[in-house]
Amino acid sequence: MSLLVATHDECLLHDPGPGHPERSLRLTAVLDGVRSAGVADAVTWVEAPLAPLEQLTRIHPASVLERVERLCEAGGGAIDPDTWVSADSWNAARRAAGAGLDLIERLRAGEADVGWSIVRPPGHHATAGKQMGFCLVNNVSVAAAALADAGERVAIIDIDAHHGNGTQDIFWEDPRVLFVSLHQYPWYPYTGRADEIGGGEGRWSTVNIPLPAGATGQVFRRAFDEVIAPVVARHQTTWILVSAGFDGHRADPITDLGLSSADYADLAADILGLVPAGRRLLFLEGGYDLPALRDCAGAVAATAVGERFRPESPTSGGPGDDHVEVARGIHLEGALDLW
Ligand SMILES: [Zn+2]
Repeated sequence: MSLLVATHDECLLHDPGPGHPERSLRLTAVLDGVRSAGVADAVTWVEAPLAPLEQLTRIHPASVLERVERLCEAGGGAIDPDTWVSADSWNAARRAAGAGLDLIERLRAGEADVGWSIVRPPGHHATAGKQMGFCLVNNVSVAAAALADAGERVAIIDIDAHHGNGTQDIFWEDPRVLFVSLHQYPWYPYTGRADEIGGGEGRWSTVNIPLPAGATGQVFRRAFDEVIAPVVARHQTTWILVSAGFDGHRADPITDLGLSSADYADLAADILGLVPAGRRLLFLEGGYDLPALRDCAGAVAATAVGERFRPESPTSGGPGDDHVEVARGIHLEGALDLW
């Protein structure tokens, strides 16, 4: 098994300001984690290209993108209280989106079994019209739209600790793209209730599994078995994109979930197994504890190439089983009316 990692040094230059948790050392920690997993022979590194604007405008109106570009040209500033840009942020964002697009082409050419876009800024909070939550361009959505427009049926599995509100919003009425999110709730951005299921033709193609603080890997594995695997099978998914944030790690300073790096490796193995090799992409989203990022990245990189690297043990116990039951009831037993 082989892994293709796309990254770029310009992603280190995006600077949201002193003291901001979404700092460049995060990216360094993740890259170090991949390099230290003992699987170097199976990993190929490529430089993320700048995404062409016509690929970004599949998701974001040109005027919204121009606003970010102009703010960066002016030296940077705040888009909202959480989301800041510097002079280099626009190029970083174009690299971050370009990584996924490039990996799609390379996987299609048979270059690897799995692709991983290890970039920043992250993307899953950005809606079509609004940058928020440290996110400028919705990287995973740009890739999903390119695949869906090429006739693929895409599932985005979002395992970041925060709800992927931007991704949900973008594909709310689009049945070609199944969006599944596991996240702490209620927590930023305060969306992602279990009864948010999509609308119009996209009804039932949004699946939310909101979880309480303290939920462990055991709950995530149960959610995979009882909800995620069956809904992906029903959707007849042909490509899997994973919004892989590692802020659900128990050491993360800005959330309260209870995962370990081994849980992320288990989850990655389960999720990547849903479709054949060459149709599987990971996207770095959040994660704010540097040692946890390093461990999670190493454990997941090893999993992606069929090896085992476990700096920690899996976790079990804790709350959340009833939340999985609710999501299963809604999506597999049609219990929405009872909600
Ligand atoms: Zn997050």
